[in-house]
Amino acid sequence: MAKRNVYPVRNTRATGKKSKISNGVYFFGGGKADGNESMKNLLGGKGANLAEMAGHKDLKLPVPPGFTITTDVCTYYYQHKRAYPQGLKEEVRKALEKVEKLMARKFGDSNNPLLVSVRSGARRSMPGMMETVLNVGLTEKTIPGLIKQSGGNARFVYDAYRRLIMMYSDVVMEKAAGIEPKDEQGIRKQLEKIMGQVKKEKGYKTDTDLTADDLKKLCSAFKAKIKEALKKEFPDEPYDQLWGGIGAVFASWQGKRAVSYRKIENIPHEWGTAVTVQTMVFGNMGNDSATGVAFTRNPGNGEGKFYGEYLINAQGEDVVAGIRTPGPINEYSKSEHNKDLVTLEKTMPKIYKELFDIQKRLEKHYHDMQDIEFTIEKGRLFMLQCRVGKRNGPAAVRMAVDMTIEKLINKETAAIRVTPAQLDELLHPVVDPKAEVAHKLLAKGLPAGPGGATGQIVFSANDAVAWAKQAKKVILVREETNPEDVEGMRAAEAILTARGGMTSHAALVARGWGKCCIVGCGALHVEHAKKELIVDGRTFKEGDWLTLNGTKGNVYEGKLPMMDVSEENKILMDFLKICDSIKRLGVRTNADTPEDAKRARQFGAEGIGLFRTEHMFYGKGSDEPLFILRKMIISNTAEERKKALDELFPYVKRDIKGTLEAMDGFPVVVRLLDPPLHEFVPREKAKLEQLARDLNITLEELSKRAEALHESNPMMGHRGVRLGITYPEVSEMQIRAVFDAAAELIKEGKHPYPEIMIPVVCDVKELNDQFAITDKVYKEVLVKYNLKKIKHMFGTMIEIPRAAIVADKLSQVAAFFSFGTNDLTQMGFGFSRDDIGSFLPDYIKKGILPDDPFQSIDQEGIGELIKIGIQRGRSTRKDLEVGICGEHGGEPRSVEFCHFVGMNYVSCSPFRVPIAKLAAAQAVLKQKNNKGR
Ligand code: ADP
Ligand code: MG
Ligand code: MG
Repeated sequence: MAKRNVYPVRNTRATGKKSKISNGVYFFGGGKADGNESMKNLLGGKGANLAEMAGHKDLKLPVPPGFTITTDVCTYYYQHKRAYPQGLKEEVRKALEKVEKLMARKFGDSNNPLLVSVRSGARRSMPGMMETVLNVGLTEKTIPGLIKQSGGNARFVYDAYRRLIMMYSDVVMEKAAGIEPKDEQGIRKQLEKIMGQVKKEKGYKTDTDLTADDLKKLCSAFKAKIKEALKKEFPDEPYDQLWGGIGAVFASWQGKRAVSYRKIENIPHEWGTAVTVQTMVFGNMGNDSATGVAFTRNPGNGEGKFYGEYLINAQGEDVVAGIRTPGPINEYSKSEHNKDLVTLEKTMPKIYKELFDIQKRLEKHYHDMQDIEFTIEKGRLFMLQCRVGKRNGPAAVRMAVDMTIEKLINKETAAIRVTPAQLDELLHPVVDPKAEVAHKLLAKGLPAGPGGATGQIVFSANDAVAWAKQAKKVILVREETNPEDVEGMRAAEAILTARGGMTSHAALVARGWGKCCIVGCGALHVEHAKKELIVDGRTFKEGDWLTLNGTKGNVYEGKLPMMDVSEENKILMDFLKICDSIKRLGVRTNADTPEDAKRARQFGAEGIGLFRTEHMFYGKGSDEPLFILRKMIISNTAEERKKALDELFPYVKRDIKGTLEAMDGFPVVVRLLDPPLHEFVPREKAKLEQLARDLNITLEELSKRAEALHESNPMMGHRGVRLGITYPEVSEMQIRAVFDAAAELIKEGKHPYPEIMIPVVCDVKELNDQFAITDKVYKEVLVKYNLKKIKHMFGTMIEIPRAAIVADKLSQVAAFFSFGTNDLTQMGFGFSRDDIGSFLPDYIKKGILPDDPFQSIDQEGIGELIKIGIQRGRSTRKDLEVGICGEHGGEPRSVEFCHFVGMNYVSCSPFRVPIAKLAAAQAVLKQKNNKGR
């Protein structure tokens, strides 16, 4: 967990009195910087990295000078009814003077004005969730000066002015002021409408058709509209604009979308944002100017190639907002969508080379993939931002592996960098390629987030949330997404937009979450109000099914089948090797069939932690053994039962043998029959009749016998070892099947390693009883097969709290323990696992429990039982083997816990094996880190 910020603010309560804060402002520029990359908590990610790029001796990159107001000021601001600490204005003025000197321009000067941007930046990047105001300092008074600076380009200046008015009225005058306009009625929308009308009247196609004169008139019209709608004048004073902007950025920390993003991403609300004020550079000063966004490696698939997009004659926001389709910076960045646009490498080869070298240096300096923003003003390159680039799961894994090979990072860093959730993405399904070939493509867009998804379309974020709540799979379809949509994007299986590029908001956010996403799908016509999607003259309504291939950008009509690719993924395997070389915990799998066992081996499972014999009575091919089992259950005499058991024996042996064989050389924990027998009694009349006939008894007699098996609380009834106590022959048959199967395999030259596990044990005498049977059968089988030894173990499951308490006695007989944490949680809490639905959500909502204890081990209580069990168990038997076989065995936090309490292995479902391996490796690294401190 992140450490809470310790505020150096003296007055932490809202007294109304102002206090001073030391160093509220950090300067950067001209090859120097007060701050550096390590100061993210104070300067925010953006401010810290700007300082690093500007001032670090190995970098000294072309960064427009500026300064950052710290997050402490933000904290102060919120603790003092939105007031600034004493002396801040003075500090800002001084820093601004430094910038003015470097730039040889003056803020608010009519002859040679300095313009700035006011930018937000939290400790952790929150793309697009907070506000930025550009062109601050542009007023009626400074307009002539800027025209002069631009070489007489009045059109550019009025365009900058109208942008400022639009942004400022939206961000500062409306949002920060807490005004909540109704849908489509926001001031920005209203101004855009006016602009649209002008374009229509004049017959213009794009914004760039607007002339200087058009724009000048537009600015006046904007101002009038603002006055009318917001009852306030647009501030035409530079310092008013500056402080308005600073206040608005601070206010945007508590904006609705920033708050919901923080909730989703678990970012503490008390962190606050920093504000960076920076000299404006203009990518929209003509065709020798441009702006762009790039990644030092492809964030979509991890390939180690420079990747990015740019727009000629545009201001930064245009790229991110997805208004125009950006061009590719180089051949590699070309896609179906932008392949006809000219690359930056072609149009500005010298600048491209400079940018290419800078990105190389940045990646080397940071030892990680960087996401960079740049602007070219009249043929000069400026760096506006760099940060560790968000990436999806497949890209994260690939980069980790590649960077290790390139020696950019070591194995430990590689293992730390991939989160379990990212690894999980690799294990997610893709659209079955065979089905794709067979289906006609409906539309094509940019592959912003890979993997496949199929779902019903909805047209608003709210609908996505609502439908998802009803357990529906939805695809959120939007013209383009904006930061207000985050919750809906989160709820959706996938996101599909008509506009926007690979660096658009939708793409960025989806990538961070590893969500399937297609953007810039130009063929889509989205009728938001009507909740309709029109493609190629065809109309799709809310609730219609679409399938997306986010890896290729393909959109299909209907519901296509999905499939798994993870098994043959070489990079995944290489990454797991890295994890294997670090982790201490063994990772086994829970598998009930030879097929499951085979798949788990492909994922690198190091044995089976739980093989449930009863599973051969469910599902495929279970008819015959199930029928025999039923005969056994309904038997009245030991003799009848013995006969049924003899019939059952070959089936049990066959399955156990197949599994031992698939896991050759690795341990297989075979659990003896666990569920209450009543569970297997048929319910349908036809089955009952057949059973009665076969047993040669009447239907009444059968009902009577079945009735006798009925229990009030079957989960705490006649089950597990209790069956073996009352029917020793049932245990004996199973144990014999295990040893016979192993013996046959040994004869075939194999290396079986069964571990016989007794379930639902609460006392050592139960184990003594079952051990006697095991020992007897073992000796008989050795004789029968003329073997000296069959490698095996006898042990128990710890799933009853009492068993954990008397573990020191149990381990006199048991050579291994396996914690059955599902039941241990159930019985430890007294929560029936099948009935938690009615109250657990309230427990979590009210904060009584932090999480569902059936998903992540309750470390405080159940975890304590586990610790006691291990400690006591090992006090009797030093080399006691300890594992876990509950659902928790594949949950990252629980895996970490298992590592710290000294288990030998965890066991989980086959698909979670890779995640468990990663979590086990990360636990080692965490332990190392803690020791180093
Ligand atoms: P975000 O955190 O949402 O990315 P930024 O602060 O990076 O917001 O600003 C958004 C865009 O505004 C950036 O893409 C950048 O290109 C542009 N921008 C910000 N500051 C400047 C500046 N000083 N000069 C030119 N463009 C700028
Ligand atoms: Mg940015
Ligand atoms: Mg159990």
